[in-house]
Amino acid sequence: MDLIDDQQPQQERSEPCPGTLYIVGTPIGNLGDLSPRAKSILKNVSLIACEDSRRSGKLMKIIESKVPLLSYHKHNFKSRQSQLLEILESGGSLALISDAGLPGINDPGQELVHAAKSKSYEVICIPGPCAAITALVISGLPSERFCFEGFLPKKQSIRKKRLEDISQEQRTSVIYESPHHLIKLLEDLSNLCGNKRPIQIARELTKRYEESIGKTIEEVLRYFIVNKPKGEFTIVLGGNSNNNNNNRISESEALNKLHELIKQGEKSNIAARKIAEETGYEKKWLYSKLHKKLDK
Ligand code: SAM
Repeated sequence: MDLIDDQQPQQERSEPCPGTLYIVGTPIGNLGDLSPRAKSILKNVSLIACEDSRRSGKLMKIIESKVPLLSYHKHNFKSRQSQLLEILESGGSLALISDAGLPGINDPGQELVHAAKSKSYEVICIPGPCAAITALVISGLPSERFCFEGFLPKKQSIRKKRLEDISQEQRTSVIYESPHHLIKLLEDLSNLCGNKRPIQIARELTKRYEESIGKTIEEVLRYFIVNKPKGEFTIVLGGNSNNNNNNRISESEALNKLHELIKQGEKSNIAARKIAEETGYEKKWLYSKLHKKLDK
């Protein structure tokens, strides 16, 4: 009953409305995921701003939309903004789409939404597929609270810090990565999080060769060393269950455990990693303490 009541006003409201910016979700691989409402908006707005007009042109051809396309991407968004807002100013309607998925999620969109809202134009989302959410809900990992990391920063020092933060994060993390850098990312995660951390990698979501690869970092690394990564990937990493300060053992207890393991013959970097996994203290921190002690 609720569904019908909720749908009624939407059917009565004729869309697109003048002076409105529509943020439209498009398929991430399967054309069947374009909603009827998205299709109708894309056939009836005054203009469509898109990342790549050649790519979106193909989608428009399929749905038989004759609406003009204007490129809007990370290199021209500043100069395009006023041109796009003029459409709304003159009582037209505007749709924003990205190459795939939801605009604004690691795709251009946020600035245009901000600019439109700051001039009091209405902004409406026509929801559609999003790789991050799709991967999260099929991962089987906790989804009550999660963090979206998108692509990790390219600059090494910032990337390293971000990876350290992720290794300590208690919530499930969702990461985008290209196939060329997937193994490096998994190696980095393995060094910081330990091999046993739960992980699910969603490959080619909604497409013909869709698959989910898990369960631990160790297993997926082994899998991708044999099966060269190809296609699109979204990584869902389980949280650090040891990083709960209330349950943490003290620093000196963690260091004692580390010395004990080394006494038993374990190499210091491996011992630091194992104790980091067990206690939730950072491997780097444990390792640095170890060397301070040995230097004395
Ligand atoms: N805005 C998009 C969304 O809502 O999903 C994300 C765009 S981001 C530039 C592209 C990244 O999303 C890819 O490199 C990949 O990590 C992830 N992705 C997109 N499509 C995917 C798919 N079909 N399967 C798995 N991951 C995908």
